[in-house]
Amino acid sequence: MNKSSYLRQRAAPRSSVASSGCLRIGLALAVAAFAVISFLGSKQFNPVTGEDQYVSVTKEQEIAIGLQAGPEMAAEFGGLEPNPEYQAVVDEIGQTLVRGGIVAPSGYPFEFHVLADPQTVNAFALPGGQVFITRALVDRIETEGQLAGVLAHEVVHVLARHSSERMAQAELTQGITGAVLIASYDPENPSTQQVAQMAILVGQLINMKYGRDDELQADALGVQIMADGGYDPRAMIGMMRILAESNPAGPPEFFSTHPNPDNRILRIEEAIQSLYPEGIPAGLVP
Ligand SMILES: [Zn+2]
Repeated sequence: MNKSSYLRQRAAPRSSVASSGCLRIGLALAVAAFAVISFLGSKQFNPVTGEDQYVSVTKEQEIAIGLQAGPEMAAEFGGLEPNPEYQAVVDEIGQTLVRGGIVAPSGYPFEFHVLADPQTVNAFALPGGQVFITRALVDRIETEGQLAGVLAHEVVHVLARHSSERMAQAELTQGITGAVLIASYDPENPSTQQVAQMAILVGQLINMKYGRDDELQADALGVQIMADGGYDPRAMIGMMRILAESNPAGPPEFFSTHPNPDNRILRIEEAIQSLYPEGIPAGLVP
């Protein structure tokens, strides 16, 4: 090796550190900008909630995602319930809820499935209209109206496109935390990693808050869907009590992102009051 090439080699690391720093910031900005622009570009009005929201998939994609993920989700809860009586009851109530009111114009092809799991008290909806309820929950329910309450709540998650909204938020959070990680990466200073970890935590907290709002919205609009289907919306409150009692340890979907059940019941009572300011009409199915 001659002297000049030796000097070039020695000089190289210094300039590559500086240029990799610039490159890193540039890349971080590009990643963050892409995430923000894609997110903001996905704004759509939702006629059911009456709000603008950010969703990065189409309705058709939601339906496809739900149909594709359905069997896998069902398998986690012991597959579909073999007793056809369970399925018949849930189908009848579910279809009554989606036939008219605020649900029908959405055009989502709703399907209701009973899962064989006799222990796990749970219900959930996949994007696009696939709704699931476990046999364990059906067994604990005391009235038709309570079952309608669970299904109506899940129907709202579909109509309000909550999963799609969360997906778009997760993409944004990932983009920004990815950018922070790229920008803050310093192999000689490990404390920058703490800052990056904090950014990730903040991102998760934001998504948690949206989760709670989703549940409250599913309750409030669920009240409306129950009433449209001819069910007494007060049954939603009874259903909340059953869910709270049957899951002291592990919260199901209903309580996973939830503040406290009493607070939630209060909000349901408010929704009923604003729907029926003159009192609840007679003849609704309890
Ligand atoms: Zn929910």
